[in-house]
Amino acid sequence: GITIGILALQGAVAEHQRMLQTLKFSGRGKIHVVQVRMPDDLAICDALIIPGGESTTIALLAKLSGLLEPLREFVKTKVVWGTCAGAILLSQSVSNAKQGGQELLGGISVRIARNGWGSQVESFEAPLEVTGLRNSSVPYTGIFIRAPVILSLRASPGEPPVEVISRVPPELLPQAVMEDGPDQDVVALRQGRHLLTTFHPELTNDNRFHEYFVQECVIPSIKS
Ligand code: GLN
Repeated sequence: GITIGILALQGAVAEHQRMLQTLKFSGRGKIHVVQVRMPDDLAICDALIIPGGESTTIALLAKLSGLLEPLREFVKTKVVWGTCAGAILLSQSVSNAKQGGQELLGGISVRIARNGWGSQVESFEAPLEVTGLRNSSVPYTGIFIRAPVILSLRASPGEPPVEVISRVPPELLPQAVMEDGPDQDVVALRQGRHLLTTFHPELTNDNRFHEYFVQECVIPSIKS
């Protein structure tokens, strides 16, 4: 079987778990879902989902649980998907971090702005076209809640390329970001084994994104 962990310190943990449990993969064995709260939980995982929530809180609790360094090591060798707050944690750098700074795990070569859509549109939904999703002609509903905005994508030499798989339509571009960046419409991307979405696939009733993660990110990495 495949063991997928969900970082269970704060945020939309049960929702991710429910989604993973709807997936059926014939011939691939069962997906075991583990809620990760301690380093020992992480040690048995093939892949990890970092949920939405509050990135500063998740980082603080990870530090207190002794998970910060194990998570940083995990990201270097295993598959990770970050949604919303999880996407912030997987970023290389964050603009408008909390005063006093914010611990990140890194792993994906993006610079990101917390709460980048501004207060007028803290939450919204958008129909998204996503490359590689099953039935990709059927839009996927992106649910954005105080979502981060990707400011730039920059893979360093030797790193896997960043592959954009979804952008919001131009009329939904954030109005209020604090620095110029050419990639502010990007809302889902992959880099190597990792997946990043600035919205919340676990809050829909559409399991195609979770299926995509298992099929396109997790299974290929276990085989190789
Ligand atoms: N605004 C949150 C943060 O900065 C993310 C919001 C979310 O995960 N829905 O961490």
